[in-house]
Amino acid sequence: ASRIKKRIADNDPFFSLEFFPPRTEQGAANLIGRFDRMSQGGPLFIDITWHPAGDPGGDKITSSTKIAGTVSNYCGLETMLHMTCCKQSPETVNRHVEKTKSLGICNILALRGDADEDNWTFNENGFNYAVDLVKFIRKEYKDYFTICVAGYPNGHPDCSSYQEDLRHLKEKVDAGADFIITQLFFTAEEFLNFFADCRKIGITCPIIPGIFPIQTNRSLVQLTKLSKLTIPDEIQKVIEPIKDNDAAIRNFGIDYATDLCRKLLDSGKVHGLHMYTLNLETATVQILKNLGLWSKTVPRPLPFQTSGNAERRA
Ligand code: FAD
Repeated sequence: ASRIKKRIADNDPFFSLEFFPPRTEQGAANLIGRFDRMSQGGPLFIDITWHPAGDPGGDKITSSTKIAGTVSNYCGLETMLHMTCCKQSPETVNRHVEKTKSLGICNILALRGDADEDNWTFNENGFNYAVDLVKFIRKEYKDYFTICVAGYPNGHPDCSSYQEDLRHLKEKVDAGADFIITQLFFTAEEFLNFFADCRKIGITCPIIPGIFPIQTNRSLVQLTKLSKLTIPDEIQKVIEPIKDNDAAIRNFGIDYATDLCRKLLDSGKVHGLHMYTLNLETATVQILKNLGLWSKTVPRPLPFQTSGNAERRA
């Protein structure tokens, strides 16, 4: 069984790093160098997102399974593979899970995936929701896999209410999920309210906040649109005048995320952070250094260094 479950249950601070599979072989080669460098920081695990169109069988060098296998087998890092299930037959899903096992990976983030609401039809004997994948993995593979599921601090956009979405999240946990990683959010309050609401309805497993460092205006707009979230006014106001200056946006993103993470860690509810790296290094590494989480040997900033800026210039 994986050490993820045990480490998450301990109270030691940790972080994990999320990457998406690159589109080209050159991209894959670059990414492997990045895994090596970023492993120096001591992530608890690295996870690879799932792109169904690009992964039938996982034969392409840039597929999710191939990249996850590389992280696990060549880089020697604890790996979690995301996997979506909707619009797929039980045979296909089983092939993917079997392949994951054969690569020595024992952590899966079980997801529904993009259902494309307009063309969506309920599949009587198939996979309709992430909970179906959680049940399938538990039934067929017992406790072999540590299973993670997605949670939405602002409710999932397809769901008619926040409360109903929370009930569906509980169904995933009751079906056997070990922990939750959240969708991105912008304020500590959003996460802490969600955390309290989960606990109120009996979700007792660890809930890891998904941290999205703002790195460029383009990726901010793209990701918030994809997640159907609204960029808060106070962020919009800062970004607007610097939106074509990537370095300035990244520095703002580093300070903003550092502050957000500090509030989360100080709340006592959180001891682990999940970083949406967008396959980039600088911002994520700097945020983790600011927080004293990077390789744990990096000292926390001295009290007079009040912002990440001081450290960056050093
Ligand atoms: P579910 O938990 O199945 O929920 C989907 C919707 O259905 C929700 O509105 C829920 O309330 C509702 N619902 C659930 N059960 C029922 C039920 N029994 N009856 C009625 N309604 C129900 N996408 C990818 O393609 N690849 C990835 O690698 C990927 N990684 C992600 C990682 C994280 C941490 C997150 C937060 C999202 C990720 N996504 C990824 C996006 C995800 O696939 C979408 O958000 C998708 O729309 C929902 O997936 P889910 O697993 O949360 O779905």
